Amino acid sequence: MLSVKEAQQKILSHFEPLGSSFVALDEAAGRVLAEPIRANADLPSFDNSSVDGFALHAADVSKTGQTLPLTLSVIADIPAGSSADIQLLPGQAARIMTGAPTPRGADAVVMIEDTDSNQHPAGTAAPNFVTVLKAVTSGESIRRRGADLRTGQQVLPSGAILRAQDIGMLAMLGVPNVPVRKKPKVALVSSGDELLPVSEPLSPGKIHDSNSYTLAALAQKAGCDVVRLGVASDRREAVEEMLDQAANLQPDVIISSAGVSVGAFDFIKDVVESAGSLNFWKVNMRPGKPLAFGSYRNIPFFGLPGNPVSSFVGFLIFVQPALERLGGVETAEKAKVKVVLSEGIESDGRESYLRAIVKRQNGSFIASLTGHQGSGNLFSLVQANALLIIPSGVKSCPPGSEVEAWILEN
Ligand code: AMP
Ligand code: MG
Repeated sequence: MLSVKEAQQKILSHFEPLGSSFVALDEAAGRVLAEPIRANADLPSFDNSSVDGFALHAADVSKTGQTLPLTLSVIADIPAGSSADIQLLPGQAARIMTGAPTPRGADAVVMIEDTDSNQHPAGTAAPNFVTVLKAVTSGESIRRRGADLRTGQQVLPSGAILRAQDIGMLAMLGVPNVPVRKKPKVALVSSGDELLPVSEPLSPGKIHDSNSYTLAALAQKAGCDVVRLGVASDRREAVEEMLDQAANLQPDVIISSAGVSVGAFDFIKDVVESAGSLNFWKVNMRPGKPLAFGSYRNIPFFGLPGNPVSSFVGFLIFVQPALERLGGVETAEKAKVKVVLSEGIESDGRESYLRAIVKRQNGSFIASLTGHQGSGNLFSLVQANALLIIPSGVKSCPPGSEVEAWILEN
């Protein structure tokens, strides 16, 4: 029997990152950066004021007490966006707005609230004189060139999934087109005579095909383009036709659910082996039957179990890391938190993933199961916000004991 880790590693060894291309910055959120980004200039790129106020020589107003209030002559008005080259002499001030370049000679800005100019409404011309009411120290309210980032400094690593703040940063650096990894393309296939499309009313003995929707949503969230091919009936030719349709799309991965157990109508194994290869690994985990992984017409193939919870968990544990590798994501291991069990849990010694609600109570995370753990009970997963991980070899966890949990993302 393979451990979960061993099975993951065997799978990952079959995947390499896809190529890259450029997308417009507007399209880059959620995409995976294909090259590191370095600052091509200092940020800020010029010394500028962090407040609306008056630029001045700090030394003029630093002798607190004796000299304050102190009146300075105002020799310039510097709005944001100004490129005027201004030299400020001792005894002089310049009105300045937030983000405007500080004049040469100035080493501080006093904010407008600390002057006699604080009542002036928008549109008021700069006064000829300003009276400073409060001392400032050298450097105060000036954002220095390069204080945030230096030219050449790495801003984002290759493999980063671009978030809103990363997109804004790229805009700040003047990067209109971003090198990103190609999105993995995933083809999804369901199989089973009992499955009906979601749009059809149920009839006796039938259920709706839910797995292909769950798996499509998971794959999309993992950054993939997804094609859902629908349901193959439990006939060899139907399964073959469906897999051929899938392969014709030239996807990076084909994923099927169901039809890989030992049932009398489970043809997936035969069909995949006829045009590729399929390994059935016994993985020491629960939920999950043997994990089927191989290739069909040279395209990597995952055969996930049919039960809705098993296919979900199988995707998270085995498929998602492979898709992340393909997509060039710098995979950090999924964050786990330590949680305290509110109830006792029995296990059978396999690595078990149990659906639970984790709540914060008095500074620790308390976990309780969301009802029965049957692998067909999708509602228990709908209620859950975490999967508890009971390690292999553990058969019983008393109430109050601590286990690790994966927090399920939104
Ligand atoms: P199988 O692997 O074909 O034996 O299926 C195991 C269980 O999963 C059965 O109860 C099936 O009805 C169910 N199942 C299979 N495929 C799906 C699907 N696409 N959506 C929901 N349930 C499914
Ligand atoms: Mg079946």
